[in-house]
Amino acid sequence: MNAPLSRLLAALSLSVLSLPALAEEVTVYSARNEQLIKPLFDAYTKETGVEVKFITDKEGPLMARLKAEGKNTPADILLTVDAGNLWQAGNEGLLRPIKSRVLDANIPAHLRDPDGEWFGLSVRARTMVYNTGKVKPAELSTYEALASPKWKGRLCLRTSKKVYNQSLVAMMITEYGEGKTQDIVTGWVKNLATAPFPDDTKAMQAVAAGQCDVTIVNTYYFGRLMDKTPGLPLAIFWPNQTLKNKAAGVHVNVSGAGVTKFAKNPAGAQKLIEWLSSDQAQNLFADVNLEYPANPRVKPDPKVAAWGSFKPNLINVKDAGSLQAQAVKLMDRAGYK
Ligand code: FE
Repeated sequence: MNAPLSRLLAALSLSVLSLPALAEEVTVYSARNEQLIKPLFDAYTKETGVEVKFITDKEGPLMARLKAEGKNTPADILLTVDAGNLWQAGNEGLLRPIKSRVLDANIPAHLRDPDGEWFGLSVRARTMVYNTGKVKPAELSTYEALASPKWKGRLCLRTSKKVYNQSLVAMMITEYGEGKTQDIVTGWVKNLATAPFPDDTKAMQAVAAGQCDVTIVNTYYFGRLMDKTPGLPLAIFWPNQTLKNKAAGVHVNVSGAGVTKFAKNPAGAQKLIEWLSSDQAQNLFADVNLEYPANPRVKPDPKVAAWGSFKPNLINVKDAGSLQAQAVKLMDRAGYK
């Protein structure tokens, strides 16, 4: 080798060596907003040195973007709320199945996709909230009992356009079949005190104001409302606790994540999701929005625990997605706006 060439090679290898090591990176498309996820990602970076990039938007635009970007997407992970949305993403081919002993151990089977395309990371309970001045808890029992004439003019509901209620009704179709579910939903509609509300908080405020006596909401909205306006005459009731059939237990749903089909760093994506399911991350993930950890070894925030414990419904939450279209049609037929 001549001298100038060997000098050149030496210089080249020196310059390669002196480049800073490329930091590993994972990119997340998140339908959970920044304040809920940034503290987690910061903690992960601090622990592992892996940088987490993210953008936040509503799940619809995020999924449309993933689809449009196809192979060129920078996203390694899709993070969103509701099994209905996660299932949709899987169904549209936006996610890839992964096998993970860690996730299988940390996340109960009914809170993750049986094919491993997505995993619940926090649990939201969709339960009843009632007016403590007008209802005794002993009068309440099951979701389906709210269809009985006893509740005529006493029920408030959020709109059927929201995925949370579509998921609730989809899960009821699994439990009861279409016919009985439609009877229940029709009964609810007959019992409405007023037109459905655009959000859970407004439905609870109507209950507190005495416009109706009971509603169905996610518990974290109850927590937020009671924080903002303590002293409202509202309390949580856990329905379906004594049932022995498939409908036993409070309706639960998840927020969760999956590795994208065209992830550039699928191994890094899997590691981050596994970390999010770990004991150390689960409180950070759930408590910040007053949700329940998906990992059963992790205790909920004391404020959340104070609402009491409950038996959850154990049907796989994927049914919220696979039966969503059927649920939407059923609610339409039942006149649930
Ligand atoms: Fe919500």
